[in-house]
Amino acid sequence: MPEFIPPAKPIIGDEERAAVDRVMRSGMLAQGPEVAAFEAEFAQHFALDRACVAVNSGTSGLHLGLLSSGIGAGDEVIVPSFTFAATANSVALTGATPVFADIDPETFCLDPASVRASVTERTAGIMPVHLYGHPADMAGHLAVAEEHGLRVFEDAAQAHGARIDGRPVGTFGTFAMFSLYPTKNMTSGEGGMVSVDGPDTERLMRLYRNQGMERQYENEVVGFNNRMTDIHAAIGRVQLTKVGGWTAQRRANAAYLDAHLEGVTTPPVAPGVEHVYHQYTIRVPEDRTGFATALREEYAVGSGMFYPIPNHRLAPFRAEVELPETERAAAECLSLPVHPSLGRDDLDRIVSAVNALAKAGA
Ligand SMILES: *Cc1c(COP(=O)(O)O)cnc(C)c1O
Repeated sequence: MPEFIPPAKPIIGDEERAAVDRVMRSGMLAQGPEVAAFEAEFAQHFALDRACVAVNSGTSGLHLGLLSSGIGAGDEVIVPSFTFAATANSVALTGATPVFADIDPETFCLDPASVRASVTERTAGIMPVHLYGHPADMAGHLAVAEEHGLRVFEDAAQAHGARIDGRPVGTFGTFAMFSLYPTKNMTSGEGGMVSVDGPDTERLMRLYRNQGMERQYENEVVGFNNRMTDIHAAIGRVQLTKVGGWTAQRRANAAYLDAHLEGVTTPPVAPGVEHVYHQYTIRVPEDRTGFATALREEYAVGSGMFYPIPNHRLAPFRAEVELPETERAAAECLSLPVHPSLGRDDLDRIVSAVNALAKAGA
C-alpha cells in the first residue's frame, strides 16, 4: 500500500520555528509588536487597502466583527446553512438570529436570490461565505443589501487571496474575517485576521478584543480577551511570505485534477473569479461514503466531507426552511486533496483512484 495522502497538511518550516524562538527569547509573549506588524503586513500582502485587526481565532473575528457592526439581540443576519457552524455560531453569540438561505449549486456559495427571499423587517445584515476559496457573488449580495438597507459581512475564513474581477475578498463588507487555523491556506497556529471598512469599526474591534480598553484600566465597553499572542503573529508573518507560492501550487494542482478527472463533476469557477482552492470539491451523487471509504482503503487517498449536516438541521439552529441545493450539496460533496505538498505522483494516484471508482459506480 502506498503512503497515505492526507486531505490537508499544514506546512511549518525552519523559518517559523526560528520566529517562535525569537519571540520566546524576547520574553514578551502576549500581544505586542509582532501582532502590530502582522496586521500591517497582512493588509499589504493581500492588497486590502484597509486596516486589519488580529484576534485569537477566526470565530472570535466573526463575533467581534458583528458586535463592532452593531449586530445584537432582535437582529437577523442571513447566512448560508452550507458552511462550518462558526458562521452561524458567531451570529447567535451576539444575541442575533441566524437566518439560513440556500446556495448556488455551481459555486456552493450563498445565493443572492435566496437571500432576497429571506429578508424580513428584522434583517440587519448578510454574511456570505467564500466557501472552499471561491468568492461568493458579492455584486449580487451588495445589490440585495442596497435594496433593503442591509450591511454585508464576509466570512473569508477559507479565501485568503481570492479575487473577483481583480478585487480581493475582504474589501467588500463592513468587515471580513480570514481564519488562520492550521488547515486553512495559511496559519498562525490558531488565529483570525479581520479587515475593516473604516476607523469606527476598527476602534470597536480593538476595544472588544482587549476587555473594552484602549488606554489601560479605562474600560469603555464590556469586552473580551480575544487577543492574538506575539508567538502566533510571528508564525503568521513567516507564512505570509510563503502563501503566494502555496496558492499558485493549489491552483496548479486543481488545474491538473480538472484536466484529468473523468466521470465526476469538477468544481466550476465563476467568470472573473480567482479561486484559491482551500478545498477541491467534487460531487458524488451515489454512495459518497462508500466512495470515500474505497479512496482511503483501496488507494490510500484521504478526502473530506465539508459539510455533511447543514447548519439548519443542527441542534442549536434547528429551523423549518426548505434549502434544496444545500441538502443536495451536503449529501454529495467530497473534497479531494489539493494542498501544496502534493507531488505529481500523488496527483496521478488521486486521478486514477477517482476515475476508477467513478467508472465502477457508473
Ligand atoms: C474555519 C472556519 C471558521 C472559523 O475559523 P476558526 O479560526 O477555526 O475559528 C469560520 N467559518 C468558516 C467557513 C471556516 O472554514
